[in-house]
Amino acid sequence: MRCKSGKVYVGVNLYSLHGACAEQVAIGAAITNGEREFDAIVAVRGEAGGEVIPPCGNCRQILHDYMPDCGVIVPAGGGLAKIRAKELLPFSYSVE
Ligand SMILES: [Zn+2]
Repeated sequence: MRCKSGKVYVGVNLYSLHGACAEQVAIGAAITNGEREFDAIVAVRGEAGGEVIPPCGNCRQILHDYMPDCGVIVPAGGGLAKIRAKELLPFSYSVE
């Protein structure tokens, strides 16, 4: 997670029955450190983080709720695309 302050926060998947995804850990770290404006987020896996993976459905909802205009880097068409978080979850639930 890169914030508009320029700081980068990282997270790892915490595997368990109701574990947290790396995105959620990174978002929590950023918010804990006072960040409120978010620039971009990307999830990776594999040795040296060589494979970009899209966020799961739960993370899409969290991204939509906390940072709808944040860029999310996802695999697309054999390359990568940067899409706004709110575009990853059309017809989403909203408290507003
Ligand atoms: Zn997730």
